[in-house]
Amino acid sequence: MDETNESAGERLAAIRARIDKARERFGAPPDAVTLVAVSKTFGPEAVVPLLESGQRIFGENRVQEARDKWPGLKARYPGIELHLIGPLQTNKVKDAVALFDVIESVDRDKVAKALGAEMEKAGRRLPCFVQVNIGDEPQKSGIPVDETVAFVGRCGTDYGLEVVGLMGIPPLDVPPGPYFALLADLARQCGLKNVSMGMSADFETAIEMGATHVRVGSALFGAR
Ligand SMILES: *Cc1c(COP(=O)(O)O)cnc(C)c1O
Repeated sequence: MDETNESAGERLAAIRARIDKARERFGAPPDAVTLVAVSKTFGPEAVVPLLESGQRIFGENRVQEARDKWPGLKARYPGIELHLIGPLQTNKVKDAVALFDVIESVDRDKVAKALGAEMEKAGRRLPCFVQVNIGDEPQKSGIPVDETVAFVGRCGTDYGLEVVGLMGIPPLDVPPGPYFALLADLARQCGLKNVSMGMSADFETAIEMGATHVRVGSALFGAR
């Protein structure tokens, strides 16, 4: 094993250990938290050591970048599950449905409608998360908190999407705990069991608030 490979494996093991500790503090069972390794901006040479170490679930925030990076890796490593975690433009919906396995960033009616139509056409019904603007910040994407329950309902009834959870990003520079609690509570109100929240700086807090998916980039791959 070369040195890069070893250190990527070690970083992965260290993050997994921290996830397990936080999960035990929350009292959740062993398979309750899924690690989504966020590989945006990093090339295949950085991703391969994690694949060799057994990681199979990855997140990307741009459709075009993912298209350049992942088809080759998916052909070489079976069982990859690719999550779209960034904003989706309607003109990229076709490519996104073809390449990704989970869409975590459904954030408005126009995109939900286009996704539903494309999934129907392609015969690929992907699990989706609705992204919620949990801090109600004007510059952030996501459905407003007080419109979430109705939007999740429309995604199923009007657009034919299979919504499995909520995703959110708390505001910077304030303690994230209350925002994570809000998102977990909203998911309960919607009858959804998955909550994607927590990144490198705050995934342990997110797990203690009920995260089922944490999206960790820089703590695994290094600074961007
Ligand atoms: C980049 C990104 C992450 C990972 O952030 P890190 O701080 O590097 O762990 C998680 N979620 C989303 C939506 C992102 O864009």
